[in-house]
Formats: sequence, C-alpha cells, structure tokens
Amino acid sequence: MSEIAQRLAELEQLGRTRRLRLISGPQGPSVLLDGRHVLLLCSNNYLGLADHPRVREAAADAAMRWGVGAGASRLISGTMTVHRRLEEGLADWEGSEACVLFGSGYLANLGVVSTLSGRGATVYSDELNHASIVDACRLSRAEVVVYRHRDVEHLEWALAQRRSARSGGIQRALIVTDSVFSMDGDVAPLAELAELAARRRARLLVDEAHAVGSVGPGGRGAVAEAGLQGEIDVVVGTLGKALGSYGAYACASSEIVRLLINTARPLIFSTAPAPPAVAGALAALELLQQRPERVERLRANARTLRRALAEEGFPVAEGEIQIVPLLVGEESLAMDLCQHALDDGVFAQAIRPPTVPEGTSRLRLTAMATHRPAELRRAAAALGAAARRLGLDPAALAEPHQERVPLQAVESWRMPTWEPRAAAGSSAAGAPPFDLERDSASEMPFDLERDSARSARAA
Ligand code: PMP
Repeated sequence: MSEIAQRLAELEQLGRTRRLRLISGPQGPSVLLDGRHVLLLCSNNYLGLADHPRVREAAADAAMRWGVGAGASRLISGTMTVHRRLEEGLADWEGSEACVLFGSGYLANLGVVSTLSGRGATVYSDELNHASIVDACRLSRAEVVVYRHRDVEHLEWALAQRRSARSGGIQRALIVTDSVFSMDGDVAPLAELAELAARRRARLLVDEAHAVGSVGPGGRGAVAEAGLQGEIDVVVGTLGKALGSYGAYACASSEIVRLLINTARPLIFSTAPAPPAVAGALAALELLQQRPERVERLRANARTLRRALAEEGFPVAEGEIQIVPLLVGEESLAMDLCQHALDDGVFAQAIRPPTVPEGTSRLRLTAMATHRPAELRRAAAALGAAARRLGLDPAALAEPHQERVPLQAVESWRMPTWEPRAAAGSSAAGAPPFDLERDSASEMPFDLERDSARSARAA
C-alpha cells in the first residue's frame, strides 16, 4: 500500500474522510445540492450578496474592463485602480487610516500575525481562534500562548508572566482574537481586550470575518459595536463572507499598513486579488452602505432561527448572531444528524475535528438575510425531527463551552515551536487543552525553512 493510500485508509478508519459536495448554480438561500433542491443553512453568504445582481454585474464589468486576473503580485504590477478604490472604501468604512487587500482571510492572518510578531515576540491567542490564526502563529516563529476562550483574566495573568516584552525598542506582544467566533457564534470581549492591550502595551489584532455585515451599526462589525473603531491596531476582514466575493483586507494605521506592504509575505509573494472579485466586493460594500436594512433582515432571521430551534428544545440562546452551533459531541452522530436533516431537505454541514475540538462535533447553522422566516422555522422543525429520529433529545445537547478546561500554568499552554521532522507525534507532555497541533501530524502545508536564503526573490 502506498503511503498516500495508507493515510487515506487511516482517515477512513477514524471516520474522518471528507468529500466535496457539489452545488449547481449560485449560492442562494436554497441550492441544488448533488442534484437535489435543499434549503442552505451553512453558507457564509450572510447578506445574500454573492448572488446579488448588482454585485454580479460589477464583477462581470470588471472582467471586461480590467481582465480576469491581476497578473502579478501587488508589488510587481498587480495593483490596479480597482484595488486602490476598494482599499480606500474599506478604510473609510472601518474608520481607519489605511487598508491593504490580501488574497484571502487566511493569507491576511498569516501576513499580519507574522508582521506584528516574529522571533522573540509573544502572541496571545484565544483557544477557539480560527485555524488561519493558529497557522499564522506557527508560521510567525513567535512564542505562542493560548489563553482560555474569552477569558480576559487568564489572558491578563498570562501577560503578566511575559518575560521580556520589549526587544530592540519594538513592542513585541500581540493579542489576537476572532470577534465573532466562527464555529460558536459568540463574541470576544473586545472592550476589555482593548483596555488590557493598552495597559500591558500589547498590540491587538481582531479578526472580524464573521462580524462584518452582521454586527454593529450598519454591519460595520463588532469593533464598531464596541465603540472601538480606529482604536484597534489591526482589524482583519474577509471579502468572502457577507461581502459575497473573495479576498480579504487589513485596516490599520498608515504606518502599520506600510510595514505590511513591505514585509507580509502572503502579500509580497502571491498574485494580487482578481479584478472581478475586487469590483464585486466594492459593489457589495456600496450596497451594504446604501441598504443597511439587509443587515436588519439578517439579524431578524438569526432571531427567528434561534427562537425556532429553542422551541424544538435545542439549548439555543436568544440573540442576533447568525451562527448557531448545535453541539452533538460525537463525530458519527453529527454526521448522522446532518444526513437525516438533508434527507428532509435541509443542508447544514457537520463540523468535526480538527475544525473544532475533539468531542464537540456539531452542526454549524447559519442564517442568511435572504431566507424567509418560514423557511427557517421549517428547518428548525426538520432538525428537531431528525434529532429525535436518531434517539437524540434536543434538550440534552450541550451548550457551547459547557466543558471548561481547568486553568493551567501558562507554561503548559504554550504551543511547541514547530520543528521540521519533529512535529508528528510530539503531542504528549504539556499539551494544550485541546491539541492545537492536531492537524499538523501530516506535515506543514508549506516549508517554513525553505524561504530564508531565497527570501529576496519576488513572486
Ligand atoms: N478568519 C475567520 C474567523 C474565518 O472564519 C475564516 C474563514 N472561515 C477566515 C479567517 C479565512 O477567511 P477566507 O475564507 O477569506 O480565507
């Protein structure tokens, strides 16, 4: 058996193989999935802008005007007027001095975390941060401290343990957090984090991927909701969710943006975002500003979905966040619940490790502004019925974060520095509360060491 076949067989044995499901047609509130019409309850197209006629038209026009691809990285010849226009629009919208686009949110996090940390620095990362932040921490070569989810007290304690916060006069501590957590739909305590960062002279990076277009005045995000616009060192947002396109951005001071342009490797060594995607996002941003009632519709739908699920007995709290997890626990049970709901015409993908911690497999439901309330109520009823068919009492499902890990010494929360060839199987002693290295057994996605000698070469 080849090594590849062996690895696939191992995944099969663990019940962890995944497959790509095929959608025909655009990302609407319902879709044609593997040939069947189903209600879509797991898309991040929160505002329905990915398939909005004006956004589509803008992308099509841009393809005719600027072409399909940017043809080069931003620093070579890939920066076009459309990139500049979107950067200016986003900076204005975010209330920040400057903005720079990246190829995706994943790349933005890699670039920003690496630029603001690096060897000798310490990054403090919430334990439920998105995988792109986890990977960014690894790539940064900084020391990484993982603090308990949304636990400002734990973070403060960890910051107090910091050995040498300063090196060469540059501030070298970075706190990084999702604002709306991608798999849980809860919100980081941003005001407290900002206060703590200022007091401890750490920088703060907030990833607004799931808050843009849904939270805050006019959908400006959780940072704006907390009254902190212009006060966070770097805000990362993606164009691939509520803004209906593809790509991402970082908003910050002109100085930080200049440093990102000069040092963020995912920006320097990767082709600039494609003009149709950039123009589509620009049209989406304009629509969002002109028609903020779309955000209100998304919030109303989130409330309807949450209420209908609670009526089915699921432990779902009232609220307006569009991400609603149903924590099943066991992987196979989550898969079965997904399949049963799908049989009833409701598509909510099961989410399993390594995307979420072991034992917290779930259906991650998402409301969209374009759902009809009746569709959401029907979906909740279908999910309740599917659970009961499986012998699951909806009321017996766990609430998010019920299982709190005990506070541990900060030493044991540190992620081991990744070393080539030593990564696999190095998880035993001093492991973090769940295994942040859990997806690294199969080597890193790219070679961290490869670049040093050749780093001067352009993309
Ligand atoms: N940050 C968070 C919190 C996310 O949920 C995601 C995507 N799921 C990303 C970053 C990555 O964004 P993109 O899809 O644009 O790469």
